[in-house]
Amino acid sequence: MLERVLIVGSGITAAVTASLLRNILPSTCSLSIWDKARGPGGRMATNRCPNNDRCTVDLGVQYISPISSELHDHKSIYNDLLQNGFLSPMRGSIEGENPYDDDATHYVTPKGSGSIVKHFLEAAGAAIRYNHHVDSITLCDNKTWDVCTLGGQKEQFDCVLLTMPAPQILQLKGSIPSLLESQQVAQRLEAVSYSARFALGLFFSPVVTINVPWSVKYVERDPVIRYIAIDNKKRDSDQDVSMVVHTTVPFGLENIERDKDTICQEVVLPRLRELMPDLPTPVSVKNHKWRFSQVHHAYEGKPGAVVLNEAPLLVIGGDSFTYSKLDGCVYSAEKMVKIISAKL
Ligand SMILES: Cc1cc2nc3c(=O)[nH]c(=O)nc-3n(C[C@H](O)[C@H](O)[C@H](O)COP(=O)(O)OP(=O)(O)OC[C@H]3O[C@@H](n4cnc5c(N)ncnc54)[C@H](O)[C@@H]3O)c2cc1C
Repeated sequence: MLERVLIVGSGITAAVTASLLRNILPSTCSLSIWDKARGPGGRMATNRCPNNDRCTVDLGVQYISPISSELHDHKSIYNDLLQNGFLSPMRGSIEGENPYDDDATHYVTPKGSGSIVKHFLEAAGAAIRYNHHVDSITLCDNKTWDVCTLGGQKEQFDCVLLTMPAPQILQLKGSIPSLLESQQVAQRLEAVSYSARFALGLFFSPVVTINVPWSVKYVERDPVIRYIAIDNKKRDSDQDVSMVVHTTVPFGLENIERDKDTICQEVVLPRLRELMPDLPTPVSVKNHKWRFSQVHHAYEGKPGAVVLNEAPLLVIGGDSFTYSKLDGCVYSAEKMVKIISAKL
């Protein structure tokens, strides 16, 4: 009987997993979520302008673009998100060649992508702890997991689910390295690769307007910048003006070990000003490095999730085991929940 379940990570995979688990776990079972970050969302977090709550920007996920089979498989999730205003059809125009499937329907997140993660976390009613960077997970008497953080917090759980990107699973200590080796999972995790890029969020004064005919622009053949969005316009939101800029992946990979502030301020921002000479001066700029942006090579066979230990249960999931889209994360969450429900 499961009594204490821990999910590591509070991104969309963790949030959907937690909300689905809440429906099947006995009411006596505690559900905890630990994340090393200061808030929820992971790559679906929404950033706020430091001195203006009405100005936000999504530095990661830009659209939710299900193809018809994903819409079919996740119908109840899409109905819920659309009915509650977390998603709306994208109305803004896209300039330049975009990488999406013709069959895809584009939705945007009027309240920011982080609102979707928060919606699922609220439904889960889990005990969420931020600033909890899990460092080691150690098997204790073959019955429970001793989970320790870099900050010295320590707790025991009888089921642990990991949802971070594969390279971050490989950094964990305790029993994890030997389990990965004995299950012949280590090599497959090492084969998972991610793209990398830098992102800038630009926050403007409420009186500013940016006069461009597009809400999203894919920049072609530029060595530095690949993507620019007028974020509030793209999201069809009445919030103050914000912009998001993504670099190209080759630029991100080439500069990944360099300081994000130096790269963003000394290379990306000047290049943006060359591309948009009439751009007003922002009141604040957020620089970000996505070391693990989107899955390039997924885990072999894209299984959704993998059991690392049967009893006590330890499962690894997340977009490394499917692909980098909301729907890829939902497939992973569904697989983790299926594994747990078989144990109840
Ligand atoms: C720039 C960019 C653009 C994207 N665009 C789109 C898009 O338009 N549409 C789309 O559908 N998808 C897009 N994606 C992909 C999408 O963001 C991801 O597939 C999805 O958010 C992954 O969610 P996750 O929960 O699996 O992982 P994450 O969101 O990475 O969550 C993992 C969490 O684990 C935490 N963590 C890691 N290690 C530890 C540890 N040791 N201890 C505790 N916590 C830990 C992290 O802080 C993080 O919060 C984009 C991603 C990026 C970066």
